[in-house]
Amino acid sequence: NIGVEADGKWFEIGRLEIPPLDPQGHKYSRGLVHCLAGQMPGAIALAASAAARSGAGYVRVSTSLPITNLPSSVVQTGGADLQDERIGCILVGPGLGDTPQVLTLALTAPRPIVIDADAIGLVGDPERLHGHDTILTPHEGEFIKLFGDLSGSKADRALEAARRSQSVIVYKGPDTLVASPDGRLGFAPPAPAWLASAGTGDVLAGMIAAMRARGLDPFEAACAAVWVHGRAAEAAGPGMIADDLVAAIPSALS
Ligand code: AMP
Ligand code: MG
Repeated sequence: NIGVEADGKWFEIGRLEIPPLDPQGHKYSRGLVHCLAGQMPGAIALAASAAARSGAGYVRVSTSLPITNLPSSVVQTGGADLQDERIGCILVGPGLGDTPQVLTLALTAPRPIVIDADAIGLVGDPERLHGHDTILTPHEGEFIKLFGDLSGSKADRALEAARRSQSVIVYKGPDTLVASPDGRLGFAPPAPAWLASAGTGDVLAGMIAAMRARGLDPFEAACAAVWVHGRAAEAAGPGMIADDLVAAIPSALS
């Protein structure tokens, strides 16, 4: 459900639908996600797999390191041509480590970007994101690193962060919510507690990038992915690991 909060009250303004695939589409028109790897390529491999399972037509990973566990359809490239106009969304952050130059590279491209994990802290100043088409996916620690200790409810803090960065904020945790700079808020139904395990955030980042590359606007892409992520976790069941979550995406989508 999508809504706005005003005077402490919640007003529902609509429901989100993931548009059906264009029957005439081809792999590029269905969305190209370009993932930038960093020091620990395992996490970006997980995100790339999740993007591929979320309906992106094409997923690429740029890395200079050996990388395993990628679906065979994912093409690995040595360098990154981020000026490629077919790129629907760039993903940077999972497994990035301390390589700020990779974030800087992503921000040189005039393409939508999902910024997750280590890359969030590397942004430095939220105003640096003005003029970019950005979705940020912080958990509590990453949120504080970039925005400091803001006051108010989680919804207030998310909206303030969205305003300061002019980005969509996916503020993660047991009560994940999505805030847009235009004031929209999205709340997902509660997700199962077993979602709190290593790698599930990387999976979510890949899913958001896929939804964005498929053409949803940044806020709707984030809401759609958060919702499907929770439903995939329900389908995977307790004892789930992040790889199982990726495998459960298609059933959650259908
Ligand atoms: P990360 O913090 O990047 O590892 O991402 C963890 C993922 O698990 C995010 O999608 C969180 O929203 C989700 N998550 C964390 N804790 C819980 C919880 N207690 N219940 C449900 N989902 C959670
Ligand atoms: Mg994470």
